[in-house]
Amino acid sequence: MTHWGWYWRVKKRHQRKALCSHFLCLDSFQLFKNHNCLGFEIRTASYELIAKYRIDKLEISTSRGAYVIPVEKQPCFFGGQRYFFHCPKCNKRMRKLYSYEGIFLCRKCLHLGYQTQRVSPAIRYSLMQEKIEAQLEQLKGSIRFKPKWMRKHTFSRISNRYWKYDGLREDAFEREFFFILENKFVPHLGCA
Ligand SMILES: [Zn+2]
Repeated sequence: MTHWGWYWRVKKRHQRKALCSHFLCLDSFQLFKNHNCLGFEIRTASYELIAKYRIDKLEISTSRGAYVIPVEKQPCFFGGQRYFFHCPKCNKRMRKLYSYEGIFLCRKCLHLGYQTQRVSPAIRYSLMQEKIEAQLEQLKGSIRFKPKWMRKHTFSRISNRYWKYDGLREDAFEREFFFILENKFVPHLGCA
């Protein structure tokens, strides 16, 4: 029988992260698609925000004050440019920033997590499998049938990954099942 003292000490201090999907997201790839970002406006019940793009920075003015988000350009290998933000607080290069009452910060500064970080390993592997299936279905194929214009080598690489996740999912499910049986303890497996 495992000694649970350490577990509950850690568990009590644990603060559940809020999810990225609950916050308004600013995606630099989407915003600068076709290089046509000149500015945008956001109006919510609690704040109003006006953003204007100047050279290498996004100037944000809200009803509570103004600040600047630095923008970095990176050349792509086959031409064109890719844009990234720098978080106004930690200055790390980030593709996505999240708004907390009109202030855009990175997910690390806002202590945010992803939905997949909340689910058990077995569910996470099945989500990865679903993602592969969806990608193949989009190309009018499936895990059993190669899409028409896909190379054999690419298809075998994708299907190998799919079956690897299948094995890992079964192992993880078995581990979770015996964990529940041995400890009579149900870990958090849900999605919410
Ligand atoms: Zn940050």
